[in-house]
Amino acid sequence: MMTISSAISKSLLADHSQFIGIDLGGTQLRAACLDKDGTILGQKRLPTDTENGPDGVLAQISALIAEVRTNDCRGIGIGIPGTFSALNGTVLNIPALDGWKNYPLAQHLQKEIVLPVWLENDAKVAAIGEGKIGAARDCRNFVYATISTGIGGGVFVDGNLLRGAQGLAGEIGHTRIADASAVCSCGKTGCWESVASGTALAKKMTAAIAANPNGILASLVSDRPPSGRDLPAAIAMGDEDAIRILAEEAFFLGAGFVNLQHFYAPERIVMGGGVSALLPLLHDDIKAVMKDRLLPGFNLAEVVRATLEDAAGVVGAAFFARAMAEAGQLSHGR
Ligand SMILES: [Zn+2]
Repeated sequence: MMTISSAISKSLLADHSQFIGIDLGGTQLRAACLDKDGTILGQKRLPTDTENGPDGVLAQISALIAEVRTNDCRGIGIGIPGTFSALNGTVLNIPALDGWKNYPLAQHLQKEIVLPVWLENDAKVAAIGEGKIGAARDCRNFVYATISTGIGGGVFVDGNLLRGAQGLAGEIGHTRIADASAVCSCGKTGCWESVASGTALAKKMTAAIAANPNGILASLVSDRPPSGRDLPAAIAMGDEDAIRILAEEAFFLGAGFVNLQHFYAPERIVMGGGVSALLPLLHDDIKAVMKDRLLPGFNLAEVVRATLEDAAGVVGAAFFARAMAEAGQLSHGR
């Protein structure tokens, strides 16, 4: 254990060294082994074990690593959808998974696989991936915003990922944006996430269907839960609820993005998550809201869709692990 507890020397990080990225999601668990250019050499995925607590997921992660690991693998990066301590690699809380309270994930995993393990927030990891080989690969100032079940973010300023105290910078979803709204996942009201996430979109659609059970939206969705994916068809058929809900989404996304521009002055906002599939329909209205609110002197940031899609997590986690190793950072599993 002592040998991998210490920083890896640069001599071990030859060009052919490889790193494994793990995307720990509430429904899917993925692993991929990448070379220095970001080429995926092997990847595997499993439905996340939600029955057996963190020990069950740890066993799954070990099994996935065993399948994708190469002889030149030098470390593991894991994107965590919750809070953790980078001091000792303990996951403090994962809201989407039962039993993940104060679980020493990095230590346990390092004991099993005998490689250094580093943890990072899942949205930051995706931002790293988009910045390396995705939609922001040519951009030093960008914000990655994932508009999904919630809203998360990763902020790059002058080419550096903002981490801040306890590594918690970038919780953009819980910035206040509305006077009132449904209760947010954090328990407060008015958060950006509570009005603009995919969850908020689905809630508005459910309400519209209940109010208009014979409408176009209701007939399209039938008896399953609605999602943003249903909006383009409903809009094409002229459904007024769908048109209104999409316009509200564009307004709140534009308002949130212009806040990001005033905070961080990005040149580009990279939109990820399920709602980003609607960007072609939303784009012009988002830009109009941003333009209306942006202070004089700012150039309007581009708003583009993330390009790595569901690979952003594993790709970013592997690049993150490589960066930690190159910087001589101690394993979080020490
Ligand atoms: Zn909130």
